[in-house]
Amino acid sequence: MSFLFGSRSSKTFKPKKNIPEGSHQYELLKHAEATLGSGNLRQAVMLPDGEDLNEWIAVNTVDFFNQINMLYGTITEFCTESSCPVMSAGPRYEYHWADGTNIKKPIKCSAPKYIDYLMTWVQDQLDDETLFPSKIGVPFPKNFMSVAKTILKRLFRVYAHIYHQHFDSVMRLQEEAHLNTSFKHFIFFVQEFSLIDRRELAPLHELIEKLGSKDR
Ligand SMILES: [Zn+2]
Repeated sequence: MSFLFGSRSSKTFKPKKNIPEGSHQYELLKHAEATLGSGNLRQAVMLPDGEDLNEWIAVNTVDFFNQINMLYGTITEFCTESSCPVMSAGPRYEYHWADGTNIKKPIKCSAPKYIDYLMTWVQDQLDDETLFPSKIGVPFPKNFMSVAKTILKRLFRVYAHIYHQHFDSVMRLQEEAHLNTSFKHFIFFVQEFSLIDRRELAPLHELIEKLGSKDR
């Protein structure tokens, strides 16, 4: 997505996840970027003709991880143990971290800690060749869709935290257009394939309604 967002946001929180150049997934990513440039987001998120749904979701999930990584990277200095002692999205939503395997009992921690856990966990999933095969002909696992849904559900929380707790910093950095474009793309994508439950989206319900009503 660097073509849209310029070089100012080059700071990343975690290393960027690269899709190898020359692979089919790389072509899909290029296709996604080209159609996004056309301005019609509802259409841009649709599964391209003849493509595999799992692969389309995989490529876009990697891309959203990279976008969120970059967006959060620009505000990490404002998201600290003292500014954000709990991982929240407004006064009504608080998240406790558990990944379901290493950490089963949810732990209450600061937002920077939570987001570090979250992004590291996502990174581990994306790097797992059995979940996200990068080689041609290697099939996606049967549980791929449910893994992708969990990843996207968790990535949403980083947007929600940034919008609720750090939008003033985003404005000061003049990153709001970048954030809004990225979030809108994310939401249209998860809506197209029903990837996140409505109740999980509740912390940004009003914003989502607003984005949907303009419908572009
Ligand atoms: Zn924070």
